[in-house]
Amino acid sequence: MNEREGIVFKSTGSWYTVKSGAEFFLCRIKGLLRIKGLRTTNPLSVGDIVAFVPQDEFSENGMPLGVVTRLKERKNYIIRRSVNLSRESHIIAANIDCAFIVATVNYPVTYLNFIDRFLVTAEAYSIPSVIVINKYDCYNPTEQKHVSEWFHLYNRIGYDVIVTSADTGKGLDELVKRMKGKINVFVGLSGVGKSTLINKIDPLLQLKTDHLSEYHQAGKHTTTFSEMFSLSFGGYIVDTPGIRSFGMIDMKNDDVSHYFPEIFKVAGQCKFHNCSHTHEPGCAVIEALQKDLISTSRYESYLSILNEDEDEKYRQHF
Ligand code: GDP
Ligand code: ZN
Repeated sequence: MNEREGIVFKSTGSWYTVKSGAEFFLCRIKGLLRIKGLRTTNPLSVGDIVAFVPQDEFSENGMPLGVVTRLKERKNYIIRRSVNLSRESHIIAANIDCAFIVATVNYPVTYLNFIDRFLVTAEAYSIPSVIVINKYDCYNPTEQKHVSEWFHLYNRIGYDVIVTSADTGKGLDELVKRMKGKINVFVGLSGVGKSTLINKIDPLLQLKTDHLSEYHQAGKHTTTFSEMFSLSFGGYIVDTPGIRSFGMIDMKNDDVSHYFPEIFKVAGQCKFHNCSHTHEPGCAVIEALQKDLISTSRYESYLSILNEDEDEKYRQHF
């Protein structure tokens, strides 16, 4: 039979649900489908584009079966180390178009350091990100002032920032506009409103709030599988507990500054080409910091990531 192309929607062990057009196929993998240079426990992940051959058979619950023959090169992927300190990693999702970092000024407090760590990780994974400041309806004038400070802080670096309230509907049109036709993920602390926002913009999804809660998923990584859902307005959302708290990836200290766009932009003017931007004379980053062209909070986040040892970076769960 002819090969077809599809996207992996769900993976449960050795079976993959693949969506092709409007149809779903339950597929397994033919032979060894190994990706060069990457030791992973799962050869395929949610978001992967694959070629598969439909079989003339059906699963117990009537789904047409297929065999995956090829994997299209991933434009990006999010990984997690399978076991602490193991060299093998688990791919949580692939081909993400946009990551939404949901943050709240209060209820709960999201620290800027958290936002920065997430942004750095997304930069390192080559995933475009949008900062969503939610629960605007809850904020008093002081908190509202923080919202506009955050907005300007990230906007001047070039990040897309939107302010939302799942309660009043503020900013939801803007959110939908950014998600439409894309593969999206939502990340952020527990309680910031990720599942509420998703349910509000697409009531058909009915993602259960407790299902999305980090608390309930803690320590269950091995038994929970990623899953992708179609959005009724077009596009997808990937849901997995790991994705909502994804940690730092392998990152050498020399590379950290590459993932702070505003630091990277001026670092080329430092006197020493291997400048760490911490104490060196003629450091353009420190100069920019003194002129307030780089924000103190961002610079502090940079230092805090530099000062972590390798394993801490892995353990870091936001
Ligand atoms: P998640 O852990 O990020 O998925 O957060 P939830 O979606 O479970 O939301 C946590 C709590 O915040 C729930 O009680 C929601 O009803 C509430 N919530 C979420 N978004 C908003 C909002 O914009 N305004 C207000 N007032 N409450 C919100
Ligand atoms: Zn420097």
